[in-house]
This record gives sequence, C-alpha cells and structure tokens, in this order.
Amino acid sequence: QVTVVGSSNVDITALMDRLPAPGETVLADSYQLTPGGKGANQALAAALAGARTEFIGAVGQDPNAQIALEQLDAAGVQLGRVARVPENTGVAIIQVDAGAENCIAVVPGANASVDAAAVKAAGELHGILVLQGEIPASGIGAAIDAAAERVVLNLAPVIELERRYLLAANPLVANEHEAALILAQLDGADQPVDEPEEAIAAKLLAHGIASVVITLGANGCLVAEGGTVQQLPAVKVKAVDTTGAGDAFTGALAARLAAGDTLVQAAGFAGKFAALTVQGHGAQASYPRSVDNL
Ligand code: ADP
Repeated sequence: QVTVVGSSNVDITALMDRLPAPGETVLADSYQLTPGGKGANQALAAALAGARTEFIGAVGQDPNAQIALEQLDAAGVQLGRVARVPENTGVAIIQVDAGAENCIAVVPGANASVDAAAVKAAGELHGILVLQGEIPASGIGAAIDAAAERVVLNLAPVIELERRYLLAANPLVANEHEAALILAQLDGADQPVDEPEEAIAAKLLAHGIASVVITLGANGCLVAEGGTVQQLPAVKVKAVDTTGAGDAFTGALAARLAAGDTLVQAAGFAGKFAALTVQGHGAQASYPRSVDNL
C-alpha cells in the first residue's frame, strides 16, 4: 500500500507564439485543462506502477474538482478521504510560447486546507507515505507523525519544515536544486552552496537522513544510503516533454518500495518508468498505462 498526502490541481495550459509582457494581451492558439499537482501525479504513478494507492488531499466544489481527480479514479486510486472544501480546486495557470518557454502562476486553493487539522481528521495512514511541498508544512508534519511505514519525502517546492520532519525522510527525493536548498535549511545557511551532487547527498546523510535520492534529469539519479553514494544512469531516450517526470519517478519509486524492492532496485525501476514519461507530452497523460515491459 502507498498513501500519498498532497496536492491536486487542474493545469490550465495556453499555447501562444510569445508570452505577454506585463500589461499586454496576446492571443493564444489553444488551451487545455489537464489534471496535475505533484501529489496527484505521484499517486497516479504509484498506482500505474502497480501499488494499491490512496490519495488524500482536498478539492473544491467547482467543476475543476472532477477534472483534477479523473485520472486517479480511472487508475483505481482510492479517493474516499479526499476532502471537498469551500475553496476552489487548485489551479496552475500556465502560458507556453513557441520555444517552450513558460510562465506559471499556481493558485493553491483547496490544497491550502490540507493542514495538520485536516490530516489528523483523515485518520490512519496506511503503508508507505509519500509527501511533497505543495500543502502546508503543518499538514506534512502531521502526516509524518501518523505514518505507519517509511516516508518518501519529495520536498518540492522546498518549504521550511521542522528539522525532525526533514530527518524522517527515507528516502528524501529531490532534484539537484532542491537538494542544495534542503541542505542549506539543515545547515541553517541563508544560501545554498554550489557543490557536486555527491557531496550534497553525503552531507544530507551526515545530518541523519537515512537515505537520499537526487534526480539528475537525463543523467539519471544518485542513491545515497548507509554512507555510500552511487549513480544510476538514465535510460537513453528522446525527451519531448519532461513535465511531471520527477513526480513519475517518485510515485514509481514508492510503489516498488511497497513491493519490497531495495532502494537501489526501486530507483532503477523509477528511472525506467520516468524515461517513458518524458517521451510523451503532458504530465499525467504521458504516464505509461502498462509496466509489463519494465
Ligand atoms: P525534476 O523534473 O523534478 O527536476 P528530473 O528532471 O531530475 O526531475 O527527472 C526525474 C527523473 O526522470 C530522472 O532521475 C530520470 O530518471 C528521468 N528523466 C528526466 N529527464 C530524462 C531524460 N531526458 N531522459 C531519460 N530520463 C529522464
């Protein structure tokens, strides 16, 4: 069992030749409404990677709520403890130009209600717990306090968490940029230091985190535990859109940990799963519906 406590959004993506300047209006060619949010993306990936998965979060009572959850529902993710709150479902308003440059505003909406009180009200959390940084820190802390098994913490975006909650991660999953910010937080430093990822991973372990996975895009990932750091190469593929690749990786990793894999085995599988997703457009839409060949 995998339980994801986190965010769900609707991504409103408009495609245009060039992004508008402040105060300017440009005509866009088209737009799409697609389900997103790191929590929902990771829950979908965990389910598609074979784990019995529950998603706990919050949506509004607006029409976007249905769009936010439809892929999860179709994949059999348990949604019985998703709260329906007065705030609107979270949205990400995304503008993309012809060169794939983007400009994004995220409105947390209902996701901001997933705080300590809401998580405590949800009750017992079963199996491996997966968390991200798109709900309030108090909700993340309460979920860690209620965790039944190991906690996969993908603190993206990086927000301030109490030290004991950072140290509860096993593994901490972060990209290079996030890993440096989390290390700075543990060091009590204002600015992240520019260091090789291996050194960052080793220092995170030295702070007392049991295991760390640093994702490196097309360069694969680093897996650090027990004082050793090893690099797993990525699968060589032609990437067309890496949106949601990190979420696919984290969800698939959690699913394999739930199935009994070692961290290195689970990260190897997650890399193959994520490599499939970068070959298709979108986040959830690009996730493989079958993992029989992985
Ligand atoms: P994020 O999007 O969170 O920054 P990354 O870009 O590090 O995350 O990607 C997460 C994982 O997805 C990587 O560790 C890798 O396994 C896979 N991945 C990402 N980009 C590629 C790529 N171009 N080719 C193959 N695998 C990729």
